[in-house]
Amino acid sequence: MPFISSISTLKISAKNSSIKSLEAFIEKNSFIDKDSVVKIDDNYYYSRNDDSIIDVSKMSFVKPVDVIENMDLFKELLFKELRIKYPLFVVEQIINNDFDSFIVSSDKIDISYLTTEGNKYDVTLVCRDYKNLVSFGCVDDIQGDPNSIGIDPSKKSVALTFDDGPCVYTNEVIDLLLDFNMKATFFELGSLMERYPAIVKRVLDSGFEVGSHGYNHKAFTKLKVGGTLKDISRTNDIYREISGRDLKLVRPPYGSINASIRDSIDVTFVKWSVDSLDWKVRDERYVENVMSVAKDGDIILLHDIHKTTLEHLRDLLTRLYNENFQVVTVSELASIKGIPLESRKVYFKFV
Ligand code: ZN
Repeated sequence: MPFISSISTLKISAKNSSIKSLEAFIEKNSFIDKDSVVKIDDNYYYSRNDDSIIDVSKMSFVKPVDVIENMDLFKELLFKELRIKYPLFVVEQIINNDFDSFIVSSDKIDISYLTTEGNKYDVTLVCRDYKNLVSFGCVDDIQGDPNSIGIDPSKKSVALTFDDGPCVYTNEVIDLLLDFNMKATFFELGSLMERYPAIVKRVLDSGFEVGSHGYNHKAFTKLKVGGTLKDISRTNDIYREISGRDLKLVRPPYGSINASIRDSIDVTFVKWSVDSLDWKVRDERYVENVMSVAKDGDIILLHDIHKTTLEHLRDLLTRLYNENFQVVTVSELASIKGIPLESRKVYFKFV
């Protein structure tokens, strides 16, 4: 059978027995190249890779019954793997809809899945022995911490900043950002750090950045240089008590700063290039205010003290994700753009 010798065999098992025939299964899975299918059996199909190549490497196939039996566990492993790359809502879509197919060999499982954009990707879970999936520790190649985001310097990026907290909505803001694998900088008031020290800690423990927004939102230009120095240092003392660290970034309340304040205090001042006006419109319009102008290198101003900001934050994050923005902290954005953050300077964006 010379024809068969140029064919590689791929055994693809349907994930559950409710799929009546493999034809239906293949039909259902858009990532299978139907034209390449030359033979279908009860449990597998033969696919021609490239009939000009005679020496096709043969994979050793094992009936993946153990994988099927451990499907919940398997999904959990896949969830962890995908979670490093995608926001929660995308991971859920993949696992619930597009993950129907896997190839099992003696030491690994290859999964093909489709993203919401219809792109096909593969992920490989390497197992010493897939039969021991149940022991959980068998998967070797889930890399990285799902809470840490691999930053890609080539991707367009924006920094999200939340001012005037911490407050009762901050925890939910954190939850949403974590769901989206996104980061942000929180410019917090010293007086509220005193009130909500646990939230300050959670912001940091979640991998986000904290900056100073002064003690109680007094304009630096009214406090003058001396008053501003005291205000910033009082806020820093409170933060150091909570976190053991110092505040390097300062956002002046109302964005109000002048040259003599800037030149007299050893901190990095951060303003913004996109004002969402969430503090003013107090409804979903702030999302459009951001999306209509946001571009690579922007610093976006939001406030975690408004319920309406929280209520529409999922929409904002989804739209940023769908427009391929990488959402990071102020310091990360500066680093992506290769711009060192210096003291006695005011930054509006990083381009
Ligand atoms: Zn403010």
